[in-house]
Amino acid sequence: MENDIQQILLTQEQIQNRIRELGQVLTAEYADKNPVIIGVLKGVVVFYADMIRQIKVPCQLDFMWLSSYSGTNSTGKMLVRQDVTADIKGRHVLILEDIYDTGTSLDFTVRHLAEKEPASIKICTLLDKPERRRPGITLQADYVGFTIPNAFVVGYGLDYNEKYRNLPFVGILKPEVYEK
Ligand code: 5GP
Ligand code: MG
Repeated sequence: MENDIQQILLTQEQIQNRIRELGQVLTAEYADKNPVIIGVLKGVVVFYADMIRQIKVPCQLDFMWLSSYSGTNSTGKMLVRQDVTADIKGRHVLILEDIYDTGTSLDFTVRHLAEKEPASIKICTLLDKPERRRPGITLQADYVGFTIPNAFVVGYGLDYNEKYRNLPFVGILKPEVYEK
């Protein structure tokens, strides 16, 4: 697996240090709010497990699983494969995401959850690729781990064809891996 990586963008240590920093901020933000922390599957699982352990407040954990509904062209339409199970009405919601790329999935997620009338919704994404944002998406992530350049990355939960999620770092794939 590691032989397919062209460059390590973020080491385990860099990621863990940043998660500790974010944890301090989120611990202060959510003290006494008993938030529902919602992970968007599957890419978020590794970040989620590390991040929640640095948010040192009582909280409830939940997950959503989305599919992109790709017909003949990439319309960017999304489907809810599995919805949250918690009743989030009146609750403070913190969305955890692996990567904020074109914005299609986060925009959809926020709209979907907003219909359930939570008290607040905030977004924490490990990675942000602002160069890739789709025109018309004005949503801002409230907390960003790292802003990265426009490259396809894998590892630390992120996949290419379901592979590489278990790499402990974030890296850029060698182009020949796609071209195979
Ligand atoms: P969106 O384009 O809707 O912002 O991102 C949708 C999803 O595409 C992300 O949650 C992530 O699963 C996937 N994605 C976007 N950029 C990358 C990337 O650089 N690497 C990987 N592995 N997945 C990505
Ligand atoms: Mg994702």
